[in-house]
Amino acid sequence: MNIPDTSAKRIVIIGGGFGGISLAKKLGRLALQVVLIDRHNYHTFQPLLYQVSTSGLEPDSIAYPIRKVLKRLDNFHFRLTSVEHIDTAKQEIHSAIGKLTYDYLVIATGTKTNFFGNTRIETNAMPMKTVPQALNIRSLMLQNFERADDCEQEEDRKALLRFCIVGAGPTGVELAGAFAELKRHVFPKDYRHLNVSEMEIHLFEGGERVLSPMSERSSKKASLFLENLGVKVHVHTIVQDYDGDVLQLKDGTTMRTKNLIWAAGVTGATIDGFETAQLMDRLNRYKVNGFSQIEGFENIFAIGDVAYMETAEYPKGHPQVAQPAIQQGEHLAKNLNLLLQGKNMKPFSYFDKGTLATIGRNRAVADLGKLKFGGFFAWFIWIFVHLAALVGFRNKVVVLFNWAYNYINYDKAARLIVRPFTRKV
Ligand SMILES: Cc1cc2nc3c(=O)[nH]c(=O)nc-3n(C[C@H](O)[C@H](O)[C@H](O)COP(=O)(O)OP(=O)(O)OC[C@H]3O[C@@H](n4cnc5c(N)ncnc54)[C@H](O)[C@@H]3O)c2cc1C
Repeated sequence: MNIPDTSAKRIVIIGGGFGGISLAKKLGRLALQVVLIDRHNYHTFQPLLYQVSTSGLEPDSIAYPIRKVLKRLDNFHFRLTSVEHIDTAKQEIHSAIGKLTYDYLVIATGTKTNFFGNTRIETNAMPMKTVPQALNIRSLMLQNFERADDCEQEEDRKALLRFCIVGAGPTGVELAGAFAELKRHVFPKDYRHLNVSEMEIHLFEGGERVLSPMSERSSKKASLFLENLGVKVHVHTIVQDYDGDVLQLKDGTTMRTKNLIWAAGVTGATIDGFETAQLMDRLNRYKVNGFSQIEGFENIFAIGDVAYMETAEYPKGHPQVAQPAIQQGEHLAKNLNLLLQGKNMKPFSYFDKGTLATIGRNRAVADLGKLKFGGFFAWFIWIFVHLAALVGFRNKVVVLFNWAYNYINYDKAARLIVRPFTRKV
């Protein structure tokens, strides 16, 4: 890689997500050469991907150029590539555009969708982890509506209009709510000769309740909100197979659908090179100590979703949400400062700011410490928190404007098939 060697030590950060960006932003004042590598040239605000999938927002309002986020940092380099291997002995990373040595390495690669080894589902279902995948869902949904409008055969039409979401965590719940809003307020105006009431939204969850990371109270409320919106919630239900047309449940039940969205789990986006499997936990995350150092290495760190830090309070590691990644990134910057001064690093401690999930218009649930509530006020907080967390002033303004427009007009303006979706055979 064409990065100049300087007298400053080099820190390589792999991943420009919540963790990588929050770390890099804080490294400005340190005597380090910072190299950030990502396979995308933008940071993705994943919590709002579902709004891109359901035509509520354009992708460029939830993505932000990484170079722009870090433009004020001296001694900063960005490279657009995918890191494929880490040679820990030579202190070198290998990527599609070449090799680079490091003094410190931070792995902040997040997660990828977990299909639990089911290759048929992987081939035929729609994941939602990246902007292109969210756009695929948007295109597929609109293409299937166009096809349904021209479809005489009732069973085929119903399969085109049946939307199945697997996994009732925040992603699945928010997506189901957004589909329900489209059915209620938007599609009846667009497809005036189609019986839009034939659109079905099914949410499948293998566990006993929706939003399992949240309190039971919020979970119950969310189920109620979903049912009021017409979403069919199936708990204790495992989706076992999907061939692109027929979905099969573990109990043998089958259902035709042309839209299966997979939000059932993630696995660490680890990189080849660490020889021992003992470094990983059951979710394929790097085991790190309280300073985010990967076990056995003093100069290799992992933060965010790809890190497993066991503490007394979090024996299964921190939740895989944005806040631990942000806080670990900021904390690591402070620790690197201490390290460079020859001082002892301080262990990380997570401050849980709470959890929110929205279910369509005017409804959300919130677990904020001991406070657990749902309804309009929770929805209002949800809006405020997401606007505040979005990267970039322009994005905040554009998103706020879009939400206000959609709210007043009962509309979702981004109903465009810009890049038609074709399933890989
Ligand atoms: C649909 C969805 C909805 C979510 N909703 C919420 C929510 O409402 N609230 C919440 O707190 N959290 C939510 N999350 C979780 C949250 O987005 C993650 O916890 C957070 O992004 C983790 O940050 P990270 O920095 O660890 O990884 P990420 O933000 O995922 O960043 C990882 C980065 O690494 C890059 N990368 C990966 N591998 C490589 C490689 N080999 N080479 C180069 N680059 C690489 C990726 O391109 C990416 O930019 C949601 C996640 C999804 C998918």
